[in-house]
Amino acid sequence: MELKSAVIALLIFSGFLCLLLAFYALKHRNTPTAFPFAAAMMIITVYSCGYAFELHSTTLKGIKLALRIEYLGISFIPAVWLILAVIYTGRQKILTPAVYFLLFLIPAMTLILHYTNDMHHLFYKHLDISGGPPFPLAVITKGVWYYVHIINSNLAALIGNFLYIQWIIRNKGPYRRQGIAMLAASLAPWAGNTFYQAGLTPYGLDIIPFSLTLSGPVFALALFKYKMLDLSPIARDIVFDGMGDPVIVIDSSFRMVDCNPASIGLILPEGPASIGSDISSVLGPYPDLLAQVREERSTSLEIMIAARGAERYFRSRLTPILHRGRKIGAILTLNDITEHNRLMMKLKELATTDELTGISNRRRFFNLSAVEILKAQRSGRPFSAMMIDLDHFKAVNDTYGHAAGDRVLAAAASALASGLRAGDIFGRYGGEEFTVFLPETLPETAAVIAQRLKERIEDLDIPEGPRNIKITVSIGVAGIHSPNGEDLDSVLKLADTALYHAKNSGRNRVETSPGHSLGNQLLY
Ligand code: GH3
Ligand code: MG
Ligand code: MG
Repeated sequence: MELKSAVIALLIFSGFLCLLLAFYALKHRNTPTAFPFAAAMMIITVYSCGYAFELHSTTLKGIKLALRIEYLGISFIPAVWLILAVIYTGRQKILTPAVYFLLFLIPAMTLILHYTNDMHHLFYKHLDISGGPPFPLAVITKGVWYYVHIINSNLAALIGNFLYIQWIIRNKGPYRRQGIAMLAASLAPWAGNTFYQAGLTPYGLDIIPFSLTLSGPVFALALFKYKMLDLSPIARDIVFDGMGDPVIVIDSSFRMVDCNPASIGLILPEGPASIGSDISSVLGPYPDLLAQVREERSTSLEIMIAARGAERYFRSRLTPILHRGRKIGAILTLNDITEHNRLMMKLKELATTDELTGISNRRRFFNLSAVEILKAQRSGRPFSAMMIDLDHFKAVNDTYGHAAGDRVLAAAASALASGLRAGDIFGRYGGEEFTVFLPETLPETAAVIAQRLKERIEDLDIPEGPRNIKITVSIGVAGIHSPNGEDLDSVLKLADTALYHAKNSGRNRVETSPGHSLGNQLLY
């Protein structure tokens, strides 16, 4: 009787201890193992208390009730122990809803069949009470589902322990020690069960609750003593999974072994299903990227990926993973540079385009014209230039306001642009002045074109309230028949002089440069 009371007290005490551990774990839910650990602790509590009740019972009815309590825990040991091993060893990705369903299917069946055993005897063929001291115990004849439960338990333990062993082999230092503790804690109920099933326990006593009482604190020690250690894999997961840029991990035989959510849907239409596939099939649609991975080039590459109808640009980077000086794989990172590229384009446009009129600014006009002048000097072909100035533009501003003046400028620029040919270079020189460079064009031809431009502007109606604004331009033209080292400045200066004459001669007209300034090569 003494012994019985002591054992019962021990079981209740350890059950209570495990309950405390469960609550502690639930309060510290920030580690991924906390939840399965708490579940394991609660199972031990239920099992221990149920078993204490069984030991206390002296009737078959009492024992049956006790067994029902115990099986609330026992049924779920295989699933929970295996889930703990899977999560601890960082393989939680395989725990999809379908996997959870399969893991809990047999446990749920075990519980149902245990509770309804009197109807079918699938779990216990026979259940009786042994009168023998020191404990009246349940004496059972195993039914079919009892074997299913045993096989399932052993299978789960086998897989779980295999995961722990693999972890122990792969890790070093504190991680390895922690893994060994986890393995020991996981092995305890398995060993207890093996002894019990083999009938090797004293008085046929079920020692699993006792071995579980051991595994509880060992699990707790392993998980919470090394609590800090849990942080780095979690931090890794948070960083890896939370990264906005796609990351793919490739092993040394060019298989994709991991990928983060950002890469799913973007470059991996099949998502995590493609984990384990050869990188050639994963990166098939991106031959440049595949070549970079296969040739192990660390130089970055720019690629375009069409995602959800929009073009996105990425810069790829391949970082080798070294372990003890040996290359064991690589990480492919894709940095999204779409916004960066867009800003660069915008910047480029701002640097070369006049914002008000949308035509080339002075700098771009000079750059483009310089290239053409160089070509002309080499080929000896003629070229011409125009200076265009809006007449009495100050009066437009004064009459209609500056904003209307802006609209007039834009309208004039587009009217002028539409009157030019494809190869002509058109730019805003400044204020209400425009310039045109006409490659391969004789000054006589340029004068004809200028005349056409002047007429276009004259015909232009710029709506302003109920009225139309009418404007005119004066244009100075200069050109070189056969180039001999003239630069753009000297030609523009001549065009400007011609413009001055046009203004002085009454405006709304085209004047061509008098030939004397650049010798007889100039027109007139
Ligand atoms: P002229 O026939 O002799 O060329 O007379 P003008 O009034 O056009 O000549 P002036 O050079 O005296 O005046 C040019 C005016 O153009 C003055 C300036 O306020 C206006 N202007 C220059 N740039 C802009 C602009 O970007 N927007 C507006 N609205 N006005 C501008
Ligand atoms: Mg002016
Ligand atoms: Mg003017």
